[in-house]
Amino acid sequence: MKVGIMGGTFDPLHIGHMMAAEAARDAYGLAEVWFMPSHIPPHKHEAGVSGAQRLAMVEEAVRTHEAFRTLDWEVNRGGVSYTIDTVRELKEKYPQIEFYFIIGADMVEYLPKWEGIEELVEILTFIGVGRPGTPLDLGALPAAIAQGVMLADMPQVDISSTMLRERAAEGKSIRYMVPDAVFDYVQRGGLYGVQPRAAD
Ligand code: ATP
Ligand code: MG
Repeated sequence: MKVGIMGGTFDPLHIGHMMAAEAARDAYGLAEVWFMPSHIPPHKHEAGVSGAQRLAMVEEAVRTHEAFRTLDWEVNRGGVSYTIDTVRELKEKYPQIEFYFIIGADMVEYLPKWEGIEELVEILTFIGVGRPGTPLDLGALPAAIAQGVMLADMPQVDISSTMLRERAAEGKSIRYMVPDAVFDYVQRGGLYGVQPRAAD
């Protein structure tokens, strides 16, 4: 069975993440995609939301897709999340699964700096998708890494969580840039400076 891991901080989860996961699933016949929020050390954002809240947003958004699941390991473990540690554990627990790891172009470019990258490309295959701002160029990677990356086609989505946090803080709408379930969750909890919805 082929399973894609969609890792990220998802602060908040947006449609770029959803489309990347679906594009990879569709292109390579993945049976499932597991969304795996990473833990963020407390100092990363000043007014960030909690790991439990990021996890809840992901859970609510993916449950309408029959092939999407949530993996809570990194949030529950806390501390700094290294993909290599998690992937080793995944392979140990599910030796029969063929794992893929889905990433956007900004992460593809950054792969040579990933902790344990040589071992990671042995254990799994990366699936890279395009993202505005960074060319998706495997030629720029060392050959040993480039051969562990496949590409999936998707329409470019010029949305980032950073941009959504900024928009929300400025009082601008983020509706439809995030899945409806995420929008509801954000509004219900008044996250990111969004005005909480008055009780009806
Ligand atoms: P931030 O601005 O906080 O870094 P982000 O939008 O980059 O947020 P992450 O949680 O950092 O989101 O990203 C998780 C994964 O999703 C990464 O591999 C990233 O490259 C990919 N990704 C994020 N946004 C997009 C997008 N718009 N198109 C394609 N891939 C994306
Ligand atoms: Mg990012």
